[in-house]
Amino acid sequence: MITIDGKTKICGLLGYPVEHTLSPVIHEVLARHTGENFAYIPCQTEPAHLAEAVKGAYAMSFVGCNVTVPHKSEIIPFLSSIDPLAAKVGAVNVLVPEEGGFRGYNTDLTGLGRAMRYDGVSIPKEKTLILGAGGASRAAAFLLAENGVTNGYILNRTLESATKLCNNINTTYGRTVFNPLLLSEYDKLPGDGYLAVQATSVGLFPHNEDAPIMEEAFYEKCSVGYDLIYRPFETRFMRFFREQGKSSFNGLRMLIFQGIEAYEKWTGKPVPDDVVPEVIEALEKHA
Ligand code: NAP
Repeated sequence: MITIDGKTKICGLLGYPVEHTLSPVIHEVLARHTGENFAYIPCQTEPAHLAEAVKGAYAMSFVGCNVTVPHKSEIIPFLSSIDPLAAKVGAVNVLVPEEGGFRGYNTDLTGLGRAMRYDGVSIPKEKTLILGAGGASRAAAFLLAENGVTNGYILNRTLESATKLCNNINTTYGRTVFNPLLLSEYDKLPGDGYLAVQATSVGLFPHNEDAPIMEEAFYEKCSVGYDLIYRPFETRFMRFFREQGKSSFNGLRMLIFQGIEAYEKWTGKPVPDDVVPEVIEALEKHA
């Protein structure tokens, strides 16, 4: 249990809504593990009040903030500076105070990278694909681009959003990082052996029996599956891989490592990877 006193470092979550966030559970474990007097407070922030909320959090000496939907891009004009990687992605989920305001970072991207390393999943330069073209896909796509991916694929139900994301990334990196494809046209993927990152919202609790592609033939083209969904712990997408004797992972470590990377920025304390099982246990108890 956190004890609040005059020395407690306060960190806020700016989002709308914030009721379902798991971040307080994660940060309570991290604070206990590192012996910090630290409290993480969800602050429901309506879009119309975002600028005032940022100013207020800074004025009240918050040691940092998380930013979540729908503010991840809209918050950028209210920051004093932005990390170059977050600027490329065009989305910020972590604020760290500096002289004159908050600096914005994107630990969704770096957290996913750290989670994949933790899970022993390496990113191949070729043969990668992403399902989905929303906010989570964007972070994953920039991570893969940063890791040298070339000629990958972004498959989406709506071709237009996949095309827009591909164009954005290809222009940023000056090469063909991704090609757009409809989900229903997966049979056009050349060859097999793909790392498949699942970044649609299909299969999210309570729709546990749904997957964005329900045909085994798609999974035969893939070697490893990485689902960004963490509720349920095993999605239908993951089960397709298991049924074919292949590895797959859920999004829990991405969630945890985006939190760890944020916590490290706020407190300056490195968090060892061995805290992860403790955080997972706390999240399971909370579920
Ligand atoms: P989003 O911006 O709303 O994007 C949703 C994506 O899912 C879009 O590509 C959308 O396709 C697709 N989609 C929705 N319903 C579909 C359907 N019935 N059939 C096919 N495609 C469908 O959401 P997001 O923020 O990217 O989140 C996506 C998932 O990532 C969520 O499940 C969330 O739990 C997970 N996530 C995990 C973490 C983590 O830390 N592990 C962080 C963020 C998000 P259209 O473009 O065609 O609409």
